[in-house]
Amino acid sequence: MKRNIKHLIEKMTLEEKASLCSGLNFWELKGIARLGIPSIFVTDGPHGLRKQQQSADHLGLNDSVPATCFPSAVGLASTWNRSLIEKVGTALGEECQAENVAILLGPGANIKRSPLCGRNFEYFSEDPYLSSELAASHITGVQSEGVGTSLKHFAVNNQEHRRMSVDAIVDERTLREIYLASFENTVKKAQPWTVMCSYNKVNGTYASENKTLLTDILKDEWGFEGFVVSDWGAVNERAKGVEAGLDLEMPSSNGIGDKKIIEAVKSGKLSEHTLDRTVEKLLNIIFMAVDNKKENAVYDKEEHHHLAREVARESMVLLKNEDQILPLKKEGNIAIIGEFAVRPRYQGGGSSHIKPTKLDNIFDEIEKSASNANLLFSQGYDLKTDLIDDKLLEEAKDAAARSDVAILFVGLPDRYESEGYDREHLRIPDNHRILIEAVSNVQPNLVVVLSNGAPIEMPWLGKVKGLLEGYLGGQALGGAIADLLFGIESPSGKLAETFPKELRHNPSYLNFPGEGDKVEYKEGIFVGYRYYDAKAIEPLFPFGYGLSYTSFDYSNLKIEKSEMDDTETVQVTVTVKNTGEVVGKEIVQLYVRDVEGTVIRPEKELKGFEKVDLQPGEEKDVTFILDKRAFAYYNVDIHDWHVESGLFEVLVGKSSAEIILRGSIKVNSTVTIKKSVHRNTTIGDLIADPILSPIVQETLTRANEGGPFANMSEDSDSFEMFQAMMKFMPLRAMVAFNPDKFTEDMLNALLMQLNEVLDNVQEEVAL
Ligand code: BGC
Repeated sequence: MKRNIKHLIEKMTLEEKASLCSGLNFWELKGIARLGIPSIFVTDGPHGLRKQQQSADHLGLNDSVPATCFPSAVGLASTWNRSLIEKVGTALGEECQAENVAILLGPGANIKRSPLCGRNFEYFSEDPYLSSELAASHITGVQSEGVGTSLKHFAVNNQEHRRMSVDAIVDERTLREIYLASFENTVKKAQPWTVMCSYNKVNGTYASENKTLLTDILKDEWGFEGFVVSDWGAVNERAKGVEAGLDLEMPSSNGIGDKKIIEAVKSGKLSEHTLDRTVEKLLNIIFMAVDNKKENAVYDKEEHHHLAREVARESMVLLKNEDQILPLKKEGNIAIIGEFAVRPRYQGGGSSHIKPTKLDNIFDEIEKSASNANLLFSQGYDLKTDLIDDKLLEEAKDAAARSDVAILFVGLPDRYESEGYDREHLRIPDNHRILIEAVSNVQPNLVVVLSNGAPIEMPWLGKVKGLLEGYLGGQALGGAIADLLFGIESPSGKLAETFPKELRHNPSYLNFPGEGDKVEYKEGIFVGYRYYDAKAIEPLFPFGYGLSYTSFDYSNLKIEKSEMDDTETVQVTVTVKNTGEVVGKEIVQLYVRDVEGTVIRPEKELKGFEKVDLQPGEEKDVTFILDKRAFAYYNVDIHDWHVESGLFEVLVGKSSAEIILRGSIKVNSTVTIKKSVHRNTTIGDLIADPILSPIVQETLTRANEGGPFANMSEDSDSFEMFQAMMKFMPLRAMVAFNPDKFTEDMLNALLMQLNEVLDNVQEEVAL
C-alpha cells in the first residue's frame, strides 16, 4: 500500500517522533494509534525463533514458544551451501509469519577472531567473504517471506568479555578488510531491513554513537536503506546516537531516551531534521512489515524438522577416518558412550537459546538406523561436572570391550561456552578426555562425535580412528548423526574456521581479550588461515577442511583471460569429478594470491566457493566470477579499495591447505594514486620509479662528483653497501652530506622538477 510517510511525519508532534525511537517493551516497537502507526514485534534469532510471551529477557533464561531449532551459525557455515541456508532462512521467515513476528534478530556476521569467544557458535567464520556470503543467504531467505532481519552486531564485537564496555582498537585497513568486509558484502547483497549495532566501542566511540560506522560507512557508502537498532541496552547517550545514525533504542528505556531526544531538539543540540530522517527510516520498515504480513500463516513443523535434519547432515564435518572406519556397518555390537547421546547439546546458550518443536535423541536415532545391530549404552561421564566418575568409566570400558566398535559422544557442555563470557582455554572437560583415553585402551575401533560450538584442542586425536565434528546441530542432530555414521549420506561439511593445535598458536593469543576495557587487534589482517599460512604454523585442521566417503578429482582450470583491467570481471572454471563409489558433495574453494604486490598481504584469500553434488563417476564444471574486490586491498591513503597492478595467482583447492590447481592473471589498476615527492622521499623509492629514476640518477651522479664515492668500482663491496645505504636516505640528506655540491636551493629545484613530471604523467593517465 502506498503511503506518504513524509506527510505522516509532518503531522507528528516532537514527542511522538521521539517516542518512536525506542521500544515499547522488551520486544515491541511503539505505535501511534491516532496516526494509524502500528506496533510491530521483533524476536531473536538467528537459528530459530525465541518468541517470549510472558517474562522477557535477553539472556535466554525464560521460556519461549516452540520453534524449529536449526543448527547454529557455526554449523550452517560449515555447509558452505548458500541455497540450503537460504532455505533455512525461508523456513524461519514462515515461522515468524505464523508467530506474528515482524523482524528476526539475526544473523550475526562478526568475525571469529579468537576460538575463545563465547559466542562463536552464533557467527559464521573467520573469513569475511565466507561469512558475508552465508549471512546474505540467510537474510535473503527470511526476507523472501516478508519478514525483516537484523544483521548483528555491527561492529567489531569479537568477544563477550566486557562486551558492553570494551574498546576495540583496530587499524583502518584491518577494519575494512576483515571486520567490516563481513558486513559490507552482506548489506550490499541482501539489504537487511535492519542492522543491530554492537555494545562495544570501536576506536574510542561506542558503536551506538559511532557516526563513521552507522552513517558514513553503513548508510552513505554501502547504501543501507533500513534502520539501525541498538543491541539490547547498548545505548550510551541517546541524543548522540540519533545524530550518529542509531534509529531505534531497544528495549524500552522507560521514556528516558525519548526525553533526552526531546531536550536535545529543544536546546538545538539535535536538529529536528535529523530526527525526522530517523523517524522516516523507522516508518518505512514498520509499514513494510505491515504490508507483508500474511494473515493466518501456519508452517509445517514436520517439514521444518526434516529440513533441520538435512541441514544438520551438511553441517557436520568428518575430520578423521583412519582405516575407513566410517561408515559403520549396521550390525554387530556397537557401544554408544557418553551422556550427550541421550541428552544432546544441540544449541548454544544466551539470547539465541530457543525451545525446539521436538528433539531427536541421538541414541534412539542410531537404534532406528542400525536396527540389526546390538547397541550397548553407557553414560561415561556426568554432564553436570568435570569430575571423573570411576564407576561410569569402568562401565564404559566394559561396554566398549564387549563391542565391535565404540562411538563416543563428547565435547563442550553448556556451561563451557555461551553468550556473555568467553572460554579461557580450548580443552574439553577432564572427564570427557579421560573417557576417550580409557576407552581407546580397550577398543581400537573408536569413533568420536563432538558437540561444541567452537574449536577445541585434541591431544587425544591419535587414539581415535574416526572423528565427526557435529558442532551444535539443532533439534534434528540425532537423525543427521545416524545418517552420516551409517553412510546413508556422505559427510559434506568443511570447516569455516581453523582448528589450532594449541590455543597459543592462534594469532590473537597475546591480545585477547585485552587489558581492562581495551583490546588491541595487533595481529591486524592476519586472522585465521591468513595467519597460519604466513607463519607456516601447521594447524590441527585447516580452514576449509573436511573429508567425504567418496573422492573428488579436480582438472581443467580455465581462466577466461590472461590480463584485465580492474573494472572488468573474469570467469574461472574448473572441472570436478566424483571418482569414488558413492554420491557426494564437494566444496570447491578459490583463493587469490597477489604475486608481485609491494603491500603486505596474506598468502592467499578466499574469493569464491561452490558446493557441487555429484553421482559416482559424474563430473561438473564449476564457475566463479572474480571482480576487482577479488584482487584489491584497502588502501588507507586513498581510503578506498585498490588493486596494485601486476600478476595474481588463482588457486583452486579442497581446503586452504590443499590447493590442487593454479593459474594466473595480470590485473591492471585503472586508478592512479596521486604521488608527490617531498624532502623526505627516499632515494630508493625514487630510483624504483621508472619515470623519475633517470632524473634522480643524474642528480646523484652530479652531487657525488669528486666525492669519496665518485670513482668507486661498481662491483666492489663498498659500492654495494653504498647503494644499500642510499636506498633509505631521504633526499634532504643529500644536502646534509654534500653541502657544496647539492644545496638547499638545488633540492627545492629538484623537488619542483620531479613533482612537475609526476603531475604531467598523472594528468595524461587521467585523460
Ligand atoms: C544480544 C543480541 C540479542 C538481544 C536481544 C543481546 O544481549 O547481544 O544478539 O538479539 O540481546 O535478546
